[in-house]
Amino acid sequence: PPDISLANIKAHLNQLQTIAQQNGGNRAAGGGYNASVSYVEQKLKAAGFTTTRQTCTSCAGQSQNLIAEWPKGDANQVLMLGAHLDSVSAGPGINDNGSGSASILETALTLAKTNPEMTKRVRFAWWADEESGLRGSRFYVNNLPSAERSKIKTYLNFDMIGSKNWGYFVYDDVASIKAVFDEYFASIGIQTEGDTEGDGRSDHASFKSAGIPVGGLATGAGDIKSSAQAQKWGGSAGQPFDNCYHRACDTTSNIPDTPLEKNSDAIGYAVWKLAVSATQKND
Ligand code: ZN
Ligand code: ZN
Ligand code: ZN
Repeated sequence: PPDISLANIKAHLNQLQTIAQQNGGNRAAGGGYNASVSYVEQKLKAAGFTTTRQTCTSCAGQSQNLIAEWPKGDANQVLMLGAHLDSVSAGPGINDNGSGSASILETALTLAKTNPEMTKRVRFAWWADEESGLRGSRFYVNNLPSAERSKIKTYLNFDMIGSKNWGYFVYDDVASIKAVFDEYFASIGIQTEGDTEGDGRSDHASFKSAGIPVGGLATGAGDIKSSAQAQKWGGSAGQPFDNCYHRACDTTSNIPDTPLEKNSDAIGYAVWKLAVSATQKND
């Protein structure tokens, strides 16, 4: 799989922070969220994607989900990746969840640029209004016709993947999906743990309830790092994984390179492993 560019992801995060600064310090439903959608949409369009905005009538401010599908591979077998693009109103939401949003954006742009032979369709979603009750993703799943729902073979969720006092957590809902991420992390000498902090707390919840196999990555939110975890991963025991979680200080200063780089490359690995033709996996 190709490298997912850390430099490009950081450039996206700088833009999201600027958007927050121009919209009262946040990217919550309203101006900051809408400008975030426009930024991601314009990058996708420039790379050759067709994008769709879905108005979520159950979301704060009727905000919109943004969907983009790479038009190669079997349309009846969809690998879907998603990240919530809204922040809380307290701050700019750069780790929560600029990190997941920028990483799947750069993965989409890398797919378009390298244009490998595909086995599955890859569909990307940037969700509205996660922060007031997982609403955008729930609206999407509830409005999927059952024939469309059954085409989605896997949903991968990325919410907070650059925490300052990071851990390496892999959603453990489906063992075979967790194994794909674990294989990547093992190859770079990192031991992961199953994610428990995020259970039912992000956009994979509606997919899981609908019977769609889910997976994902996280580096920790308000939970406290144990001393065993600090021994394994470094960082500070007895401190939260992200001490700026849902606060004004969740800025570009709150997101170190190391977890962002490793998690974004893990996303690239999983997409290539699950959806790119075997003869082209090393492109
Ligand atoms: Zn990279
Ligand atoms: Zn989040
Ligand atoms: Zn949050």
